[in-house]
Amino acid sequence: MIHASQCYTPNMNNAEVRFLGSGDAFCAAGRNQAAYLVRTGETVFLLDCGATTLASLKLQGIDSTTIDTVLLSHLHGDHFAGLPFLFLQYWFETPRRRPLRICGPPGTQNRVSQLFAAMYRDLSDKPFPFRLEYTELLPQRVEEVGSLRVGPFRVRHQETEISLGLRVRFDRHSILYSGDTGWTEDLILHSQGTDLFICECCFFETRLAMHLDYPRIWENHQRFGTTRLVLTHLGREVLARSNQIELELATDHLTVQL
Ligand SMILES: [Zn+2]
Ligand SMILES: [Zn+2]
Repeated sequence: MIHASQCYTPNMNNAEVRFLGSGDAFCAAGRNQAAYLVRTGETVFLLDCGATTLASLKLQGIDSTTIDTVLLSHLHGDHFAGLPFLFLQYWFETPRRRPLRICGPPGTQNRVSQLFAAMYRDLSDKPFPFRLEYTELLPQRVEEVGSLRVGPFRVRHQETEISLGLRVRFDRHSILYSGDTGWTEDLILHSQGTDLFICECCFFETRLAMHLDYPRIWENHQRFGTTRLVLTHLGREVLARSNQIELELATDHLTVQL
């Protein structure tokens, strides 16, 4: 049950970022998968939509129909497998008529359609009761998506498919979202002048080319040109050593006012 005091009350003056999922693909320590709700003065959008997103929205008392746009960093299940449940919600529980825009790397439209068909084949044959609109995001090509200015850049996570980091500008704010990535100097470059950098931090001891680890981030944190650095996509190694971590760790309910 949600009490009135827990209900989501948008702040019309300032933008805010609500963390819906701060865990890795394995839902370390029961944390939800990647999803961040951003409310600006003009629009509401999601950065990624992991499988647990609808549950997290409801737990936080957020009306999912307020979402205009979903920006996807890449097509791994912990970043986009929540979409079919969002569609289901819009189909039956809170009927949606206005379009929903989904922006993501090349192949997004096909993959989202295939995923929905695999999960709800009977529905996927029927016309959607609302329009799904897609925008393909290409590295280094800035897209104007309504009032958002989206700057995608390729990060080091997948070999054949494209994974993106996303720098998003709106109102007078800029945020950077790393998506999933190994170390790249582009994180330093794109973090300059941002209000918030949402940075993945899967590992502590393990060092991989396709994900970030805490020592690597710590080594470089003073080079990030951001007002606030928040580590997310937290794996079990990081959570087990949280008492040794001097940078801010996300929680599933963190709200950042911009
Ligand atoms: Zn991931
Ligand atoms: Zn991934």
